[in-house]
Amino acid sequence: MSQSNDKQVSKNPTAFAGKPASVSVLGSTGSIGQSTLAVLAAHPERYDLYALSANTRADLLLEQCLKWQPTVAVLNDSTNATWLALELKKAGSMTELWVGEEGLDAIASDQKVDIVMAAIVGSAGLQSTLAAVTAGKKVLLANKESLVMAGPLFMSAVKSSNAVLLPIDSEHNAIFQCLPQPSLSDSTEKIAFSEIKKILLTGSGGPFRSLPLGEFSQVTPEQACSHPNWSMGRKISVDSATMMNKGLELIEACYLFDCQPSLIEILVHPQSIIHSMVEYVDGSVLAQLGQPDMRTPIAHALAWPQRIRSGVQSLDWQQLSALSFESPDLQRFPSLAIARQVANDVTSASIIFNAANEVAVQSFLDNKLSFTRIISVVEESLSKISSSEPSSLIDIKVIDEEARRIAGSLIACL
Ligand code: NAD
Ligand code: MG
Repeated sequence: MSQSNDKQVSKNPTAFAGKPASVSVLGSTGSIGQSTLAVLAAHPERYDLYALSANTRADLLLEQCLKWQPTVAVLNDSTNATWLALELKKAGSMTELWVGEEGLDAIASDQKVDIVMAAIVGSAGLQSTLAAVTAGKKVLLANKESLVMAGPLFMSAVKSSNAVLLPIDSEHNAIFQCLPQPSLSDSTEKIAFSEIKKILLTGSGGPFRSLPLGEFSQVTPEQACSHPNWSMGRKISVDSATMMNKGLELIEACYLFDCQPSLIEILVHPQSIIHSMVEYVDGSVLAQLGQPDMRTPIAHALAWPQRIRSGVQSLDWQQLSALSFESPDLQRFPSLAIARQVANDVTSASIIFNAANEVAVQSFLDNKLSFTRIISVVEESLSKISSSEPSSLIDIKVIDEEARRIAGSLIACL
């Protein structure tokens, strides 16, 4: 075994040597959270569940607690906390219930925890994900928004704490698998970008890839949330429909892999079988393929650098229709051009981009904003706020709040 491989194995808390790794799942009631629990359930000898968390869904959190008997459960919103505490007590559960954001930070950084799945949606996930990184955990990053908002701060915390950061986003997990190893794991070893011609970040094009442009303004939340290939939470489903998700992923990839946006090409691949590719200077293209099922990247990151079963079915090569590719239509998806400009801007632009999008998507889901206005709210928010250079989490939160206020007032004026 080479020296670098030795280093990877010794840094990996899941290397199975008799003692199960202790796992906190931030956002356990969500789509990624539930898929994570499904993978953990198949490997009780490898993983112990330390903590679960939810925002408001106390009923589902109760169900998960009774099944998993974690040491701690965190409910972010206090509304149903008394009810949940009583139900846990009635059931004789030993699970301790903590409430609020401090509880999330605590389960992300507790010294008993080895692995943190960061699967809270949106900017709400930033603080606890950063707490896990700062505490030097093995962090499985689904919450792409935290990297978009706080990329430089986040990656510098990864380096100084020696955290192991592994991407859960299927595209980034695929790119990670196609890059020379180790890449994210060892801050002293840089990816040799001179060997890489381009990174091909694929996306399905979402449910409206071929919808006539004239029909975009009538799109409903239900239509936007019906993704052709993936089953996901509502916010990321809308982001996929506007292709804002691919824009966020472009920025996420630049920070994760420490590369320039110009190295990354976005490619529409409607079947979502190839999850992304890396092209090398010698003409080789490495791709990662599989079913569009998040249990694959989750299992990959949980066990990395080993491999474990995920419960995902094999690809059926005889049943696969042709794999097709096309360039994204920038007229249909203006989010992509904006995202590229933002990715090239190292100031506060990405915080504004993310915050305005979150506010606009929520308004769309609440039937208060039309689908086509989501991107114009983002664009107008970017033009209204002068750029600055945040150097702390507090700076980031101030810019985030300002962008939310501006986006909210733009929507209110409509
Ligand atoms: P979801 O809406 O299904 O679940 C979100 C989770 O976050 C829930 O457990 C919810 O209780 C929790 N949450 C929401 N607001 C919170 C708050 N204010 N405080 C604390 N907890 C809060 O979302 P999802 O689809 O599972 O996505 C989670 C993250 O993973 C997102 O950042 C998304 O972009 C990313 N991601 C998801 C997928 C997917 O297939 N679902 C794929 C790639 C990346
Ligand atoms: Mg993705």
